[in-house]
Amino acid sequence: MTVVAIDGPAGSGKSTLARGLARALGFVFLDTGAMYRALALAAQRAGIDPDDAERLAQLAQQVDIRFEADGEAQRVLLDGEDVSEAIRTPEISDLASRIAVHAGVRRAMVALQRALASAAHGVVAEGRDTTTVVFPDAAVKLYLDASPQERARRRQHQLQQQGIDAPYEQVLQAILERDARDAARADSPLRIADDALVIQNDGWSKEQTFEYALQLCRERLGML
Ligand code: C5P
Repeated sequence: MTVVAIDGPAGSGKSTLARGLARALGFVFLDTGAMYRALALAAQRAGIDPDDAERLAQLAQQVDIRFEADGEAQRVLLDGEDVSEAIRTPEISDLASRIAVHAGVRRAMVALQRALASAAHGVVAEGRDTTTVVFPDAAVKLYLDASPQERARRRQHQLQQQGIDAPYEQVLQAILERDARDAARADSPLRIADDALVIQNDGWSKEQTFEYALQLCRERLGML
């Protein structure tokens, strides 16, 4: 199995890039953030406190989180229900980063991520710990970043497209809080892997980021 792993903070463009690379390389796209989001939604529905590490770890082992291809898109299934839209709210973004601090939750998610990947011949995975913990031997490791202001602008635009009107200052604040929580947690914090290539994409279009990263992947994977 060949793995391209991409980590970086919220709004850095990881999902768009990973989806595009997966399509171009003929690999499977593994959105690990969507898995934490789906678990957060399950926890919210079950009324579990985001600080209750034990019950969350139990839930993480019980829930059935899966991906299903839908043409060019990918749907996220939680116990068979399509939750692709429901997991993209600001509330679930916040909750996902709260439940993701628990070691028991992470253990279950990482096991599931590796199992999903093992069924494919090639995977493009993205998240916060895919280059450092989930796939430490990935053939290509990228760390995608941009300034908080640029990332907040992108996230605000994304939310607008979903019909969610959030003021810029509020989106920026939420991003800064999530970054801080993701980088400060004891288990698998967001960090740049020693062997990762950093792509700082302030002012770059999605296409520029994609072309640059695809070239890197092709070189690294000997696909030129
Ligand atoms: O990438 P996305 O914004 O969908 O991730 C939601 C949250 O899930 C992140 O803020 C982070 O707390 C958590 N996450 C994680 N490890 C991953 C992917 C996401 O802790 N590999």
